[in-house]
Amino acid sequence: MAELSRKAMAVKPSSTLAITAKAKELKAQGIDVVAFVAGEPDFDTPENIKDAAKAAMDAGFTKYTPAAGILELRAAISKKFADFNKLEYKPEQIVVSNGGKHSLINAITAIANPGDEFIIPAPYWLSYPEMVKLADGVPVSVLTKKENGYKVTVDELESVYTDKTKAIILNTPCNPTGSIYTEEELRAIADFVVKKDIFIISDEMYEYLVYGGHKHVSIASFNDEIYKRTITCSGLSKSYAMTGWRIGYAAAPIEIAKLMSSVQSHQASNPNSIAQKAALEAVTGPQERLAEMVCEFEKRSSYLYEAIGKLPYIDCVKPDGAFYAFVDCSEIIGKKHNGEEITSSADIGRILIEEYKVAVIPCDDFGIKNHIRLSYAIAMEQIKKGIERIRTFLEALV
Ligand code: GLU
Repeated sequence: MAELSRKAMAVKPSSTLAITAKAKELKAQGIDVVAFVAGEPDFDTPENIKDAAKAAMDAGFTKYTPAAGILELRAAISKKFADFNKLEYKPEQIVVSNGGKHSLINAITAIANPGDEFIIPAPYWLSYPEMVKLADGVPVSVLTKKENGYKVTVDELESVYTDKTKAIILNTPCNPTGSIYTEEELRAIADFVVKKDIFIISDEMYEYLVYGGHKHVSIASFNDEIYKRTITCSGLSKSYAMTGWRIGYAAAPIEIAKLMSSVQSHQASNPNSIAQKAALEAVTGPQERLAEMVCEFEKRSSYLYEAIGKLPYIDCVKPDGAFYAFVDCSEIIGKKHNGEEITSSADIGRILIEEYKVAVIPCDDFGIKNHIRLSYAIAMEQIKKGIERIRTFLEALV
């Protein structure tokens, strides 16, 4: 057989999705697994959103749409940017895509030339480096510090900056750490981006999921200089419990938006027409359900954080946003479980699922060793059960 694509072969399949699929498979076999896996809300998509999709189908809204998405939806997102993010993006600066991942890939593809370096603060969501590689860019990670909430500083950015640096990929609120960048921290990063004349891809997928009085700030909102170097990405999956609908969006200066739309027109034609109508209802319809879900996530976040604090050997930084607890397991490394020495987070993940029926995400692919991620987008009673199982595991260590 002729050689297959080296680029495709260099990409690691998404382990979050693989572990999630494994947990779902075990559940389908009737096994009682607690699945702290993908960031996927356990709530159903709100009824008004589903009704909008049904109405779209009944009205025959089942054909191609403009590549960047229907104007009504882009206009609604433009208004949301103005109201919530204090950002002025005209509808023609917005590209709606098939999920947040697709928006990020479009953003990277629109600015990357072969060999361009993308700085990715670690721990990071595991898809960023693979997306950069697919666009012929070079991912450059820089490890952040736990005592700084795993948030990157300008000194850390400076330490990996080279004349090949094209962009920074920043995620606030952050997957996997739950950290939120303050306005002051973002202003310092914005000054760095402007001074170096590079781009920033600001992944704000979890923008509504903030707790404890924290505030989400969009980096592009500070001034014209940072605005013209920013691609702001977000989506509907997490906030509106719409993971399967696949609707994300990116907003950028017009030249970049045109490139994203052009690339998308060949790759995917357009985002799903029915899902676009559902997204329009999500963005313009009643927001009470979103508020209720955020309130529930906040309760789970507090519970999980406190519960982890009472367990031996492990700890996590307080998750201020998103729906992940990022657990430091360094103290477990070198301990033995049933005679087996634990050497990595992958060992922890394997033992937890095989012997304790708890599925977690080992974070080696997130650019950091000895950590696991627990998603708390699952019901409270599941969280409680999962914590008890993790306690049993920890108490079995010697
Ligand atoms: N972004 C989610 C997560 O990190 C979904 C899974 C994935 O795409 O990696 O869990």
